[in-house]
Amino acid sequence: MLSLKQLFLLNTAQTSSSPKLLEIERSEGMYLFSPEGKRYMDLISGFAVSNLGHRHPKVVQAIKDQLDRFMHITVFGEYVQAPQVKLAEKLSTLLPENLSSVYFVNSGAEATEGALKLAKRFTNRSEIIAFDKAYHGSTHGALSVMGNEQYKQAYRPLLPDIRFIKLNDPGALDWITENTAAVILETIQGEAGIRVPDLDYLKALRKRCSEKGALLILDEIQAGFGRTGKLFAFEHFGIVPDVLLLAKGMGGGMPIGAFIASKEIMGVLKENPILGHITTFGGHPVSCAASLATLETILEEELIAQVPEKEKLFRDLLKHPKIKEIRGKGLMLGIDLGGFSRVEQVSNYCQDKGLIIDWFLHYDGALRLAPPLIISEAEIREACQIILEAIELTD
Ligand code: PLP
Repeated sequence: MLSLKQLFLLNTAQTSSSPKLLEIERSEGMYLFSPEGKRYMDLISGFAVSNLGHRHPKVVQAIKDQLDRFMHITVFGEYVQAPQVKLAEKLSTLLPENLSSVYFVNSGAEATEGALKLAKRFTNRSEIIAFDKAYHGSTHGALSVMGNEQYKQAYRPLLPDIRFIKLNDPGALDWITENTAAVILETIQGEAGIRVPDLDYLKALRKRCSEKGALLILDEIQAGFGRTGKLFAFEHFGIVPDVLLLAKGMGGGMPIGAFIASKEIMGVLKENPILGHITTFGGHPVSCAASLATLETILEEELIAQVPEKEKLFRDLLKHPKIKEIRGKGLMLGIDLGGFSRVEQVSNYCQDKGLIIDWFLHYDGALRLAPPLIISEAEIREACQIILEAIELTD
């Protein structure tokens, strides 16, 4: 009989020729467990998803309660489904006034697709400005605004009228004109190896978009839901987007995403033609119930307030001559080791020692640290000790 790993290689689509082949049987809180009982501390939260840790009891309970009522019924925007309505209401009470209309989708990439379509419809323009090293998802529209040719070239032709500018280059803001439908930016760039925009730059970007009538789309699919020490990362910068993208941490481990805008902007999806964006499973009631429980728990347990001190502890402990720089905000950090060879050696050592760590799609010279927000002081100390041991052993 074939093992699970052999069957995985046989019947499950592969995205690289060297998969990690790490088999996980169970997860709880900060930890993943292999069938042999080996315990791994998850320092990347399944790519910024498990902000509350794995299988948080309140999220699991909300899912069970919803399973006992109904699962899928029918498409978004037609039937009144309590889990969707309550989640949208909660989000809009926590967001600035203009972000009051929530379109629930299945994933981050679908949120990007919806937002790009929305911007084209609302402005009657087609040009989109995106950023060098941006990542907004892997579907055709999202790939079109990805700032890395290496991953796009095989899929051309992609969407036309996309221009790329560099983050924190105020001169490039002149590219935003009356032809621009939208500017799409990760509030803190993730796959670029964690790049934080300058405060003045983001303010100037906001101003230029408003002056030219272009919508500012902020992608917080990775940075949202408390990860950076604010519920929404744009709160660090004193600006408000026209469209906000959420996914990943939003679902507490269940698949969900959203693009959020004003009632006026979102209104264009209703007519000429109707059904401007449709999705069978978007805003699935079980995912919405999980998301609402996630949001309420993050707020009730005051996890966000603890993020800055946890960030500080990581920064204080991770001191080593081979660490060139630590970039990021809160628990969204990139530990720059200056090259992939060191990153790979550290990652392999950490995995052996029961620590899950990774790197970034567009920058493989830095280690990715995105632990669940529930990580304790003792766990941070344990993790940093192993990471430092690993760094010490690199060439
Ligand atoms: N936007 C950002 C900033 C992301 O980090 C990601 C995923 O890594 C996406 C969009 C795409 O999300 P999904 O994988 O759910 O399609």
